[in-house]
Amino acid sequence: MTNKYRYEELTWPEVREAVAADCVCVLPVGTVEQHGPHLPLVTDVLTATEMSRRAVERMPGEALLLPSVYYSFNEHHLDFPGTIAVEGETIVRYVRDIGRSLAHHGFRKILLVNGHGSNVPFLDVAARYITNQTEAICAMVSWWSLIPRELLSKLRESEFPGGMAHGCELETSVLLYLRGDLVQFEKAEKDINFQKTEYFYWDLSAPSPVVFQEWFSRYSRTGTVGDPTKASREKGEQFVEAVTERMVNLLREFRDRTIEPRVDHH
Ligand SMILES: [Zn+2]
Repeated sequence: MTNKYRYEELTWPEVREAVAADCVCVLPVGTVEQHGPHLPLVTDVLTATEMSRRAVERMPGEALLLPSVYYSFNEHHLDFPGTIAVEGETIVRYVRDIGRSLAHHGFRKILLVNGHGSNVPFLDVAARYITNQTEAICAMVSWWSLIPRELLSKLRESEFPGGMAHGCELETSVLLYLRGDLVQFEKAEKDINFQKTEYFYWDLSAPSPVVFQEWFSRYSRTGTVGDPTKASREKGEQFVEAVTERMVNLLREFRDRTIEPRVDHH
């Protein structure tokens, strides 16, 4: 069994070995979109990919890292230059087809690692299609939901709700740690000016009761929602380490999961 963990670097006999070893396939999915004046367009690809890579690297022979999906659904960001928007139906089919191919080759566990809030409904549907239409099972996790609650409340300085939403304290901290060279921190600006009500708000740490996404430019002047001025490289390191550790545990649990037989009750 090879120590290589990047799917695209394997040969076909090595893929056959990886299937025999019950490797979990990890597919990072991001998006290419504006992240305020201080973060690069690639932010959501970079975070999902790098956290997945760090986890998979720690478990050779147990998991494989697939090439990332860069483009996805984000048309609500199109008022800002740079955003590349793909229709929701397209992203669902595209990810489903990747999963179908993996299942066709014999892989039975596929984990989608999400880096972009608005991917959630589409990746949820894609994962269900893969699970329903193939022999494999497919699940999805957004990296920020793997941050332990205690760590989040210990490190968080920005207000709730709003401080951690987009190009925020959380994403900027993680980028400062992973690719500080791409962060223009002097341009980071607090922007929490949306209509904050009981049922409508934005924050990555806890969703508002109502699911709603309107044009980003209606509630953000800078392209940021959150307080990136509270970000630091040190926080980023702790977030990334904690997420990586939990992702390793999650992947092991998923790999060990029994796929129970279906029962046709007709
Ligand atoms: Zn983002």
